[in-house]
Amino acid sequence: MLKKLIIGNWKMNPKSEKEALAIVRSLITSTKNSKNAEIVICPPFPFFSCIQKLKLKKIKIGAQDMSEESEGAHTGEVSLRMIHSFGVKTIIIGHSERRAGGDTNMRVNKKISLALKSKTIPVLCIGESSRDTTGFYLGFIKDQLHECLAGVPKSQIKDLVIAYEPLWAIGKNALREATPEEFIEMRIFIRRVLSDMYDTKVAHTIPVLYGGSVHPENADAFLTTGEADGLLVGRDSIIPKKFAAIVACVH
Ligand code: PEP
Repeated sequence: MLKKLIIGNWKMNPKSEKEALAIVRSLITSTKNSKNAEIVICPPFPFFSCIQKLKLKKIKIGAQDMSEESEGAHTGEVSLRMIHSFGVKTIIIGHSERRAGGDTNMRVNKKISLALKSKTIPVLCIGESSRDTTGFYLGFIKDQLHECLAGVPKSQIKDLVIAYEPLWAIGKNALREATPEEFIEMRIFIRRVLSDMYDTKVAHTIPVLYGGSVHPENADAFLTTGEADGLLVGRDSIIPKKFAAIVACVH
């Protein structure tokens, strides 16, 4: 059985190194018996170093973003090489909050291309801001996939992970929660698009995660009924009890 990938996106939290260490220490204890989950926590960059000193075994560190440039005069940016220097290989790319801050599909494409060329696992976030009855949102997702993966050859696609995160279901101000059935429909659609872009085999090997208001009460439904290959968790990833409860939904 393939492991389910459970990713915690800490965003700009917590406030201090001390709190970051407390979260990780708690998770080390509470997830130690988990067998079928691959756990990745994505703290802010300044906490990488102190978390790494905890000598993690089961839990891996991931990054929330990377620069599309390799090096040079890019104030505030963090390069792939810098991230790799911590042994960190999993990187969230194209998160809706980065897109709101200016990441276009073209920029996301540059990041994805750079990452896939250098043994990285990019977690490409895609998702529509609203649903409609005419299926416009499906066309939006198709365009996102085409534009974000433009020029990525079949030989490099195998390390890609896709996280479907409908914007309307993310965060405290979510319109409503998505249902596992809505996720299934979208997972099938994403695989169909990937199959047309590459081939069916490739489409079925790329994990498709669900993200958007995942909590301990709905995680199991997305993993079982929704057949998600994993989950991308925001808010609840910095509450150790809740994140551990989500991990425990992987049987
Ligand atoms: C997110 O922002 O990627 C996310 C899934 O957030 P939340 O779980 O808080 O909805």
